[in-house]
Amino acid sequence: TTEACNEYLAKGGIFPDGLQEQLTGGIEYLVGKMDKKFGDISDPLLLSVRSGAKFSMPGMMDTVLNLGLNDANLEGLIERSGNRRFGLDCYRRLIQTFSDVVLQIELDLFEEALREMKDAKGIIADTDLDETDLEKLIVTYKEIVKSHYGEFPQDPRGQLEMAIKAVFDSWNIPRAKSYRKLEGIPDDLGTAVNVQCMVFGNFGESSATGVAFTRNPSDGEPSVYGEYLVNAQGEDVVAGIRTPLKISDMEIQFPELYAQFADICSQLEGYFKDMQDIEFTIQDNILYILQTRNGKRTGAAAVKIAVDQVKEGLINVKQALMRVDPISLNQLLHPSVDPKAEYEVLATGLNASPGAAKGPIVFTTHDAIAAREREKPAILVRVQTTPDDIDGMVTSAGVLTSQGGMTSHAAVVARGMGKPCVAGCGAIDVNVNEGWFTVGGKTFNKGDVITIDGSSGEVISGDVDLIEPEVTDEFAELLKWADDTRRLKVRTNADDGPSSEKARSFGAEGIGLTRTEHMFMGERADVVAELIVTLTSRADVFKQVEDGLGKIGGVFKAQAIRMKELWSAGNTAETITGLKNILSADPGEQSDIVMQTLANVNKSIEQTNRIETILTRLGELQKDDFIEIFSAMDGLPVTIRLIDPPLHEFIPSEEKIANKIAGLEKEGGKEEEIIQLRTLDELRGKLHEENPMLGLRGCRLGILYPEINRMQVKAILEAALEVEANNMKVLPEIMIPLAAHVNELIFMKELTTDVAKEVFEAAGKKVDYKFGTMIEIPRAALTAYEVAEVSEFFSFGTNDLSQMCYGLSRDDAEKHFLQDYVDNKILPRNPFQVIDESGVGRLMEIAIEGGRKTRPDIKLGICGEHGGDPESIDFCHRVGLEYVSCSPYRVPVARLAAAQAVIKEEEKKG
Ligand code: PEP
Ligand code: MG
Repeated sequence: TTEACNEYLAKGGIFPDGLQEQLTGGIEYLVGKMDKKFGDISDPLLLSVRSGAKFSMPGMMDTVLNLGLNDANLEGLIERSGNRRFGLDCYRRLIQTFSDVVLQIELDLFEEALREMKDAKGIIADTDLDETDLEKLIVTYKEIVKSHYGEFPQDPRGQLEMAIKAVFDSWNIPRAKSYRKLEGIPDDLGTAVNVQCMVFGNFGESSATGVAFTRNPSDGEPSVYGEYLVNAQGEDVVAGIRTPLKISDMEIQFPELYAQFADICSQLEGYFKDMQDIEFTIQDNILYILQTRNGKRTGAAAVKIAVDQVKEGLINVKQALMRVDPISLNQLLHPSVDPKAEYEVLATGLNASPGAAKGPIVFTTHDAIAAREREKPAILVRVQTTPDDIDGMVTSAGVLTSQGGMTSHAAVVARGMGKPCVAGCGAIDVNVNEGWFTVGGKTFNKGDVITIDGSSGEVISGDVDLIEPEVTDEFAELLKWADDTRRLKVRTNADDGPSSEKARSFGAEGIGLTRTEHMFMGERADVVAELIVTLTSRADVFKQVEDGLGKIGGVFKAQAIRMKELWSAGNTAETITGLKNILSADPGEQSDIVMQTLANVNKSIEQTNRIETILTRLGELQKDDFIEIFSAMDGLPVTIRLIDPPLHEFIPSEEKIANKIAGLEKEGGKEEEIIQLRTLDELRGKLHEENPMLGLRGCRLGILYPEINRMQVKAILEAALEVEANNMKVLPEIMIPLAAHVNELIFMKELTTDVAKEVFEAAGKKVDYKFGTMIEIPRAALTAYEVAEVSEFFSFGTNDLSQMCYGLSRDDAEKHFLQDYVDNKILPRNPFQVIDESGVGRLMEIAIEGGRKTRPDIKLGICGEHGGDPESIDFCHRVGLEYVSCSPYRVPVARLAAAQAVIKEEEKKG
């Protein structure tokens, strides 16, 4: 049993009490059934020993066949079977697999010996080895065992105990561990061991062995699918030495047995009410079923099988909804690696955005665009991406980064675009400047082709076959059932018209997050950078004017004090007049300071004009963006978040500025642009923050420089009015990012109300809108009862909330230690992937309670990346959120996960 396995592993490899007695009882049972004796010289009972874990882990754990044979009873087997070749074949197979699985001797040594023998005889198939060959091979095999272990174990009971231990131990072999990690199977389940009597598919031409699925595991078609080999044992089917026959050939070769097999398939499906993966053997024209388990299947097959089985009356709708892993729906929406393809995995990173893509490697946006123009979309490889890379991301087929986690820029943006992305693949060493990366001692240069699989995180060498997604009627039907079942609404995170439309076609019921700073990428990034430079610089100049006025003394002192008041109140014209008056009254040695102050005032006017020009331009662009989004979401709520600028992402790097300056200097005559860039560089230094994630982000910049937010609110409301004028319904929700204190929201609400008043007065009409905030900072969650006084809705920004609750940098932690923490079970999960219920979740509960106390009808949703994660969605359902919001391609995943949350809750309640 699995309990015996766990106890055995806990005791460091000692059988628990009672196991030996159970084993003796089990052997007696088989002896009774088979009329053979275990270890008998003349008619030995042979056994197979295989694993049997709660969740099937195909091929992950070990199996030993033909156990119980030895030098002494081999002749007995041969005599009883009347088939010398068969007996010898069983023994050489036992030595080979037992040595590999139990004695841990390199399998290659045996395969090499087998190959040498076949080469020497000029044959290909094992079945062409004759009795003399097999006798010789057994001698060679035993010599290999002797030189690596000692005599091949001869005692059948000893063999059995050793094999059982090996199966128990195989629970912890690396490939089984990795498989569990991938599939989310707990490590503490352990594996049972199944001991069965052998039946022999290698008994001659009337014998065979095979594996079959009761339905096609690739596309779900309801017909038996599988392969078999005549005169063979189980491992031959997978070993690929001989090409197995299709199960349909069995209908011709063994017609009666095929009919019996088909009947058994439907009986087993009827009993287990799921598609079965069956191992069978034919020994001398008798069919035996060795094993059956629920079959693994692709996402497409899972959907088709579940829907078909409901129609066949085998399962009900709720069972069907629980049958499909929401994540597997990704395969139906994105290209995936052809399961039949063979390929070399170079490294595995984070499966940041699903789907597979292939293409030549590029390292820069420039090369990505060039590749696209040559109609060969590339794989953009970077250490991390920034908004600067946006055009490169748009034009490439997929994105690979060596650093950054599941909420890194690359991950979030690629998901939004529905573009495959493998992020944080630490095994690759990227040199962007020289245009190469290395992995495992191999170098890949610009132009070399790779394939990435954003669903598994695999980085693959070369060009691998991909299969295109197919959205079927069954898919639509299953999701319709999900919609009828779920209580959570599903919105999307989208920043432009096309992705909003895409999300709506996937069933999105509104937008939960538009990141307006994402609209400032690409070409617009330079303009925004200039805006921030100018705003910051103007603040300095403003201060210099104040200081200048403060320094003016003597007979002009009273006048200067008055002017300082005027200046602070924003009265520029009178400040200028006053300064000019002082100059004309000849201030003597104070002239310099007066002139300097006047120059600063003029500079600030110039800056204000420039700021206004930029804001007007950006406002027009944003308005157009909002019109597209509102139109795509006609009749559905749209949450637009005001700018949240992590400044380090907006201001170009020192290196980039230096390169640009060098380029302009080469071209010559670009003085003004060069000065502009130098100012930007200076500002970069000034704005440098040691902790940008805790810096001038979120609503902070908008409070410091309200012009930006005023422009955005105006653009939102004007766009809403315009779309409504076209007979569409707009439900705008203006959302403030990264608020920590209610006062920040009071400030922003006043600003919003003020702008709304202006816009509505100018238009002569109104539009209803809501004002709310993200809950991203623990303090906001803890003081939600206050925050709700000004906020009509909360949207949990669990990316930042996790970062700040855990004190883990979302940009760096995954790169440095978070994966180790998870691997070593210091943390149960990566909190950026699955909501940490007891910590971050607790903060959410506090915020929900506080928010509802103050405002019982407060709208509650989530827009962090967790909004697309099935387990986190289950939590969101349990705590009573109204909606989850996720990237467009995750919308179907979330619809199904939300339905599963309801069913799980019902099951729990009984
Ligand atoms: C969040 O913090 O969860 C969020 C959605 O905002 P962003 O990822 O843009 O910081
Ligand atoms: Mg955030």
